[in-house]
Amino acid sequence: MAVRVYEEWFILSLIVEDGRCAGAVLMEIRSGDIHVVRAKAVIMAAGGIGRVFEPSTNALICTGDGMSLAYQAGAELMDMEMVQYHPTTLQGSGVLITEGARGEGAYLLNSEGERFMERYAPNMMELASRDVVSRSEQTEINEGRGINGCVLLDCRHLGEQVIRERLSQIQEIARDFANVDITKEPIPIQPGMHYQMGGIKTDIDGQTAVPGLYAAGEVACVSVHGGNRLGANSLLDTLVFGRRSGQHASDAVKSISHANVTDASADADRENIQGLLSNAEGGPMFGALRHEMGKTMNDNLAVYRDQQGMETALSDIREVRERYRSVYVPDKGKTFNTNLLFTIELGFMFDCAESVAVSGLERKESRGAHTRTDMPDRDDENWLKHILVKNSVDGPALEHLPVVITDWKPEVRSY
Ligand SMILES: Cc1cc2nc3c(=O)[nH]c(=O)nc-3n(C[C@H](O)[C@H](O)[C@H](O)COP(=O)(O)OP(=O)(O)OC[C@H]3O[C@@H](n4cnc5c(N)ncnc54)[C@H](O)[C@@H]3O)c2cc1C
Repeated sequence: MAVRVYEEWFILSLIVEDGRCAGAVLMEIRSGDIHVVRAKAVIMAAGGIGRVFEPSTNALICTGDGMSLAYQAGAELMDMEMVQYHPTTLQGSGVLITEGARGEGAYLLNSEGERFMERYAPNMMELASRDVVSRSEQTEINEGRGINGCVLLDCRHLGEQVIRERLSQIQEIARDFANVDITKEPIPIQPGMHYQMGGIKTDIDGQTAVPGLYAAGEVACVSVHGGNRLGANSLLDTLVFGRRSGQHASDAVKSISHANVTDASADADRENIQGLLSNAEGGPMFGALRHEMGKTMNDNLAVYRDQQGMETALSDIREVRERYRSVYVPDKGKTFNTNLLFTIELGFMFDCAESVAVSGLERKESRGAHTRTDMPDRDDENWLKHILVKNSVDGPALEHLPVVITDWKPEVRSY
């Protein structure tokens, strides 16, 4: 079967008619034209929220559009507080230094030259799971054994040949982005935002709470990763649940007819865009607002969290969102108006940021990637639950959902 791909089309909103997802409103980026596309089913596969944090290992397009679109359409977001910080990212740019380096035997060192993982995971050392290594690094940095907010990843002892043959990509990244020759110097690295375990709540066939709307990939939360994805397991999100969603949707649409969708479904998006383009010069630009939001997320919802920090983040997000109402878009053109697109994306990002913050505040314990210094223990009695976020007229509404335990009973993780 031939599948028509619409390259460079940008989804602005989902259409919900008679309680079903009935299509989407899209902008053709090349012309700026807005189109209504009716559909019997929509599979959201718009990726994660990485760039809601600054910096992040994620591409600039990872702005959480899909989560926000689904949330606005009535779907639930789940486990949004579970944000994975990868242990080895470059300061400033956030570029990922792959686990391959530690897999080959690279050491993590603090400012005193100690392999500090000895203190935290003496058996697994540098190969402990991501959250454990990230927390260990952050503890070293917080306790004054870091170097300019970083620790060091040392590959020197691996020798030039191993580095050239097996770590050439890392060698290039370190040279190009940090001006470091890894055969001669260690790389300054720090924990950085990498992956969102949470997302649009789906069942194992990708179905969301909105009939006809499916989600798969990082945008979705089937909950296969719990609060803590293991490296390489995104394949599950994309391949397994992408396939299952496609199969289910294609079967389901056989017995469904199209809803009555007209061009009027795009009115709200046209008005929104017109409003953005009409904002007066002198208003804030999207880049500054996006940076402010990303920074408060990274300052307050990173490896370690506490009540005060998360409250600060939430109030910052809301304050930046308020200023976004007068955001200035200097480019008024129709063709490839990336200024406008980035500004629209920022609107999506606020929903994601707010959901992470309210879910983090709601969870009164530490679990998975959510570590609170003010509530450091895991509390299975009260918090063996998912947190759901739904859109309401009063803002995000929270609910709890018990975790279904099957073969694997929760245990204390120790190394
Ligand atoms: C540096 C790095 C290394 C990684 N390494 C691994 C690894 O080794 N193994 C592993 O399992 N996982 C890895 N991950 C995680 C994994 O890459 C992601 O979880 C996965 O790529 C997500 O795939 P996706 O298809 O859901 O989303 P994406 O690949 O992000 O694709 C989403 C698509 O949706 C489009 N889109 C977004 N918004 C809109 C909109 N409004 N309108 C139209 N289109 C839109 C985007 O342009 C993009 O094309 C890594 C992640 C990073 C950042």
